[in-house]
Amino acid sequence: MAPAVSTAIGLASCGFDGSIYFDTSPAPLGDGGLVREVSLDELIPAPAGTAQFALPGRRPLTTIGPIAGRNALAVALPAGYTRLLLPAYAGERGAPALPLFGYTFACTVDDRLHVAAMKTDESEDWEPRFFAPGRLEALLDRRLKQDPHNRVLAQVALCAREYGCFTAQNVFLERGEAALPVSPKCNARCIGCISELDPGGGIASPQARIAEEATAEDLARVATHHLERVQDGIVSFGQGCEGEPLLRSIAIARAIELIRNARSNGTINANTNGSQPAALERCIDAGLQAVRISLNSFRPRTYAAYYRPAGYALDDVLESVRLAVDRGVRVSLNLLTHPGVTDDADEIAAMETFLREVRVAMVQTRTLNIDPELYFAAVGRPHHPLGMRRAISAISSVTRVGNFTHTH
Ligand code: SF4
Repeated sequence: MAPAVSTAIGLASCGFDGSIYFDTSPAPLGDGGLVREVSLDELIPAPAGTAQFALPGRRPLTTIGPIAGRNALAVALPAGYTRLLLPAYAGERGAPALPLFGYTFACTVDDRLHVAAMKTDESEDWEPRFFAPGRLEALLDRRLKQDPHNRVLAQVALCAREYGCFTAQNVFLERGEAALPVSPKCNARCIGCISELDPGGGIASPQARIAEEATAEDLARVATHHLERVQDGIVSFGQGCEGEPLLRSIAIARAIELIRNARSNGTINANTNGSQPAALERCIDAGLQAVRISLNSFRPRTYAAYYRPAGYALDDVLESVRLAVDRGVRVSLNLLTHPGVTDDADEIAAMETFLREVRVAMVQTRTLNIDPELYFAAVGRPHHPLGMRRAISAISSVTRVGNFTHTH
């Protein structure tokens, strides 16, 4: 006889010593912009690669109120999943700001960790990686010796080693999508920028912004080497360790010219904030084939509150999307998702209107890595959240939902 399926959602929380507790009751609350009860159909067993966090100075909220003597527990999901709910907690005075992670609701069901998430993409290239001792170092050393004065190679070696960046490691593993960081400057000041944060913000950026402008020649040598070895490889300008690549569109156009003089295979992609349509057109004229444009919202005020753009606005970003689609480039949107913002009724309406008008190839539902209170303080809590699954189905009714840049 099949074991009885429990309907009880229990509390997963942390002791002040870091130990983890699973209690069958009381039931935890979740935060979808409005704090509320959680239903079983929003939950999946925690997938492999899920990381657990204790949230210091934050008491977990439950159906009987905040639980004293415990810290709230949250998780960060592995790639290929989209978060549906935030953890709900009562912050105590003086609680430290939280570093940049995608805090996701977690609880216990049948004594097993469950998370509020949806699987939204699959790619062998983005599965969690484990290197035998010394293997990555050996790959880095061998490749660096082949091109010792290449500044781009030196940068991605640092990113592969220090930050565990997959697209940087791919340069040395000679597989998939390879990183081509190009721009130290940016024309936005995102509240959750992973390469440069406000000094007074109380949290450090996870990566150091690149310090120098890459040359077209260095970029082209890294890209050409990759495409010589990876037939359907992707080489991508615009990485986590840099600013905005479109500010260096002349160097990118020159690099694309050099790459295409040497290789005709693979895909040349750019990850960008889409702020400068004319600069993007220059790259497309040179041969850019794919572009992934990032945004957190289709509403001008919510966009500006997070990106804090200098000299451009959301209209310029949407103009870049239209232009790239009209030019036949493969366009993905990198939608920085956050429960309570992405699924606000007004947000979904604005998103549906745009996606029906402009047919992009994919919307990547990226979990925004930020302290939820910091984000809500900047963009406001919602009036009418409809749930992240409603937002994801709104997207999938007009285009493909995913989490990775695919070539087809
Ligand atoms: S657009 Fe990118 S590089 Fe610029 S501030 Fe935002 S996250 Fe940072």
